[in-house]
Amino acid sequence: MDYQVILEEINNEIKPYLNQGKVADYIPALSQANSNDFAMSLQLLDGTSYHVGCSDLHFSIQSISKVFTFSLALDIYSKAIYNRVGHEPSGNAFNSLVQLEYEKGIPRNPFINAGAIVTTDSLISHHKSSLKAYEEIESFISSLCDESITFDETIYKSELECGFRNVALINLMKSFGNIDNDVQAVIKTYFKHCSLMMSTKQLCRSMLYLANHGTDPITNITHINEPKAKRINSLMLTCGHYDASGDFAFHVGLPGKSGVGGGIVALIPKKMSLCVYSPSLNKQGNSLVGTKALELFTTKTGLSIF
Ligand code: GLN
Repeated sequence: MDYQVILEEINNEIKPYLNQGKVADYIPALSQANSNDFAMSLQLLDGTSYHVGCSDLHFSIQSISKVFTFSLALDIYSKAIYNRVGHEPSGNAFNSLVQLEYEKGIPRNPFINAGAIVTTDSLISHHKSSLKAYEEIESFISSLCDESITFDETIYKSELECGFRNVALINLMKSFGNIDNDVQAVIKTYFKHCSLMMSTKQLCRSMLYLANHGTDPITNITHINEPKAKRINSLMLTCGHYDASGDFAFHVGLPGKSGVGGGIVALIPKKMSLCVYSPSLNKQGNSLVGTKALELFTTKTGLSIF
């Protein structure tokens, strides 16, 4: 299969959709993104990679960081993490408060905001320091993509100033006893890893261990064991796109995780990882063109997991 040709075709076919979505502006600094930008990368387990568009452009990974914080927390706490965060789709928006009240401060899954705030809190408890927890997250992702990455100070500050719903979520969870550390320390760490800047090339590379059941196929380093990698992938399939997770499975048919920065990572188990970037979002906060591009990819290649 000529993946480069397929990526070029997709790059042409998504053009009419580029301005149909809306760039996130509830975090003001994110609204600076250019809605004409598009990039798509894929990497096979043998390391061969293919790219189209601005695949070196660094964008804010936002909720894609939730995959990495969950991976670290699951590795440390194993099943005990599920006492604090569930593994069911939420059917609600990524920053919804309603369900959290009914369900006594236990978020439905680690891929909505509340869930990732809990996994972040658990990492801070493990390291007994919010700085060390952040450093572990940053160095984990850097080692996965074999390049040093860092967060964007402007986006971080913008979230800190305007992240009112996240502050509400964390305080609600604290009131139910599901946040162990200081709320300011936890929310700052959460915003920092959301503001990490990466390209589709780097994100694609950093997901390769999950495409290979937990072991990086290039370095041979096992980052998480196979049963746990399987759980992460299943949660990406059922919960990776918030209340559009069903729609993503229906149209794309791959485990994937989106972020409001406009990125989506996805993988085909035992075959490849993928990443697409286009900052205009659909109503559920997922990249509109990114979803379309991945749908075109699985349609053209017949490589959905179904
Ligand atoms: N940092 C964003 C927030 O907390 C992440 C949301 C997202 O990417 N869906 O609102």
